[in-house]
Parts: sequence; structure tokens; C-alpha cells
Amino acid sequence: MGAVGAGLVDCHCHLSDPDFDHDLDDVLEKAKKANVMALVVVAEHSGEFEKIMQLSERYSGFVLPCLGVHPVQGLSPQDQRSVTLKDLDVALPIIEKYKDQLLAIGEVGLDFSPRFAGTDEQKEEQRQVLIRQVQLAKRLNLPLGADKVLLHAFDGRPSVAMEGVEAGYFFSIPPSVIRSGQKQKLVRQLPLTSICLETDSPALGPEKQVRNEPQNIAISAAYVAQVKGISVEEVMEATTQNALRLFPKLRHLLHK
Ligand SMILES: [Zn+2]
Repeated sequence: MGAVGAGLVDCHCHLSDPDFDHDLDDVLEKAKKANVMALVVVAEHSGEFEKIMQLSERYSGFVLPCLGVHPVQGLSPQDQRSVTLKDLDVALPIIEKYKDQLLAIGEVGLDFSPRFAGTDEQKEEQRQVLIRQVQLAKRLNLPLGADKVLLHAFDGRPSVAMEGVEAGYFFSIPPSVIRSGQKQKLVRQLPLTSICLETDSPALGPEKQVRNEPQNIAISAAYVAQVKGISVEEVMEATTQNALRLFPKLRHLLHK
């Protein structure tokens, strides 16, 4: 592995997803060939924490782990439900156990779609789970806290995005940018200093319903380069520097 800055950083992907169980080595090999130097792997629920930590040990210096409790829990689409404080209680001791190896806390957030959070109680419980993880991130000095925030796959209004830019937040752009007018608007609006790259694999790929992989991060990089009128190398340099600013432990956890 070359010097820090000599590759792309996939700032958000779900490599513990069963979609990758049969060919993960292959997927990672292809990512390396696509010039990916680091993969920020996030969790959604405590049931996958050990799997993620094992991955990060097996691919040490390449797969960088984040643990967190997502607002929607449930292993299969049929049993998806809103997160509860119980889910967080199960997760917290495991996060504490691995805190020194973690790059960040994630994936966390709020999901108020009616099918997940139909009642005010459910919404309030989601808020509590998020607030406690923000506090945890602050205490452990890991990103997500009030200072260092990555908004992944942001799909809101550009005016709202600009408030995030003001606050110093970073936005990561997935390959689905090539088929999303909203994300294209976002790329045009955002300064390069606020942009990171991600794939959200296996979701948010260039083609709907097709498994996304970290190697597709090259598509995000090429799109940003085209919109900003600069080279892919310049996008790589800028977004990787942004990832290093966002994740202070990245430099330390990467292969030297
Ligand atoms: Zn995600």
C-alpha cells in the first residue's frame, strides 16, 4: 500500500451484508484494483458487530470498522421494525469492548417512515437511541459527534445541505448519483472541501436492483470530476484528504 492519499476511500459500505458472504475476497480484490485504499464498514445492529470486527482483523489496514445501531432493526425486510432502547442496551457493551479499534460510530440516524415509526413513542425512542449514540461518540472522541459528521446518501434539499456545509459536515456521494437528479444537484452545490465518496454497498449502485460493490466508487469519483471540471486524480486527492479530516484515526489504522 502506498502513501496516505494514494487511493480512494469508500466512506460508507455494508460488507457484513449476507450479499457478500460468498465472494467477499473477490469483491475486495476488485476494489483494490479500482484504487480503493480504505473501506469504512458500518453496522446496523449488534448481531453483525462480531462479524465486522473479524473482517477488520482479517483485512487489517484496509477494512476499517464502525459500530452503531441503525433506526431500523431486523434481519430480513419482512421483520424490519423501529429501533428500541433495548437494542441499544445490547449493543453498548460490545461497542465499549472494541472502542479502541473503531474508526467511528455508525450507521445511526432517524427513520420516520410510517411503516417503521408510526407512533410518537416509536419516534421518541429513535431519538433517544440517536442522542445516546451522539453522546457516546463524543465521549469516545469518534466521528458522528457534534464536531465531525458524515451525512451519507443525503437526499434532502440543497438549501438544507448548505447548512451542513456551514456546520463543517461532510457529504458522501454514492454511485447511484448517476441516476439521481437530487444527488446530482447536491454535487453541483457542494464545495469540493465538503465531499467524500462512498458506495453504501450492497445498496445505492449505478443500476437499480443490482448488487453494488466498493469498486464502483470509481463511478462516484468520475461523476464528481465531470461536474467540477477537474481530473479524477484531483477528486481522489481532495476526497481522501476530506476523509482523513473526517476520520482522524484513519491515518493510524491504515496500512503504513
Ligand atoms: Zn448505509
